[in-house]
Amino acid sequence: MEFRYRYGRINLLVGLGVCFAALTAQPQQHSAPSAQDPGSRGDLRALAALVPVDTHTHVAKGDAAFYAMLARLHMHILNILLVDDHDPYRKNLNSQRADAERVIQESHGYASLCTSFDPFQFNNAGFAASAIRGLNQDFMNGAIAVKIWKNIGMELKDKSGRYVVADDPRFEPVYLDIQNHNRTLIAHQAEPDEAWEAANPNGLDYPYYKEHPIWYMYDKPGVPAKKQILDARDHLLAQNPKLRVAGAHLGSMEDDLNGLAQRFDRYPNFAVDTAARVVHMVVMPSDTVRAFILKYQDRIVYGTDLGYAQDEALEEVVKEWQDQYARDWRYFSTRDTFEYDRHKTEGLGLPPAVLRKLYHANAVRWFPGILASRP
Ligand SMILES: [Zn+2]
Repeated sequence: MEFRYRYGRINLLVGLGVCFAALTAQPQQHSAPSAQDPGSRGDLRALAALVPVDTHTHVAKGDAAFYAMLARLHMHILNILLVDDHDPYRKNLNSQRADAERVIQESHGYASLCTSFDPFQFNNAGFAASAIRGLNQDFMNGAIAVKIWKNIGMELKDKSGRYVVADDPRFEPVYLDIQNHNRTLIAHQAEPDEAWEAANPNGLDYPYYKEHPIWYMYDKPGVPAKKQILDARDHLLAQNPKLRVAGAHLGSMEDDLNGLAQRFDRYPNFAVDTAARVVHMVVMPSDTVRAFILKYQDRIVYGTDLGYAQDEALEEVVKEWQDQYARDWRYFSTRDTFEYDRHKTEGLGLPPAVLRKLYHANAVRWFPGILASRP
């Protein structure tokens, strides 16, 4: 949950895309971009034909036009809850649950739930038992996954004042419960490297940390190093080999595809989503990213981090979502040279079979039940 704060408004300004025109337009045209075509182009009929899944969204409300967009694109979304004690809305898990439940019912099968638990109860007696009670209730109501967020590792402290990381034994009963219910754990652990580095105004993530200094670790005493947080995540993977874990945001290894490859080789229970990190891919050499995705084509699921917050206007949201889907589709499916969020890039032109895995088959495998109520 961060993408929209970083790029959402910018997209509204520069995303002059014509993605929905593309749904009704003539057959595939992957022509060179023009001045009127700043990068949102793509034949979304081909995307819709895949029955795509966006495994990383945060949707607090819906309306007819929003659901109609999902239906037009055949886009299934995983709606993720999390507890953020800095956000008045995200502070309260129960009201989020109620809102998400409404979205899921109204979406007629296009939305599924990824629930969470309140990590800030960690120091209370009976934490794990109470977290498990909440999760099991959500599983009974159809939740197919559970999210842990970056506040584990970067904010939460135990009674002695030490930062708590994801492999803390006190979380283990919760992980076991998720595994025993054949649900998937989404782990957003750590952040891009920039959070631990001296400020670089040219950095991809600089605007985000400027706006959200709480997650800027560089000048904070006592915070774990990024490596320590990811080591704990890796330890969790090793300790729970039967637990499916999807690392959000390319597993926070967005600038280290070699390191990510090592994790895939070492932990067969580990996949990653692309949410809010495609922009890190577009600034790497296309051939490098393409080779990586081809090699690990069973381990990467498509996700965006798009959201629909209570205070947002429908038209802006629908446009933002459409533009994002069109931009990503153009990157993954074509060989176009174009601007992605103001970064010139060359599309990957992934083969149809790999696109199908990225957008559909991997989500079905890593998130069993995601299409259970498919319309
Ligand atoms: Zn998110």
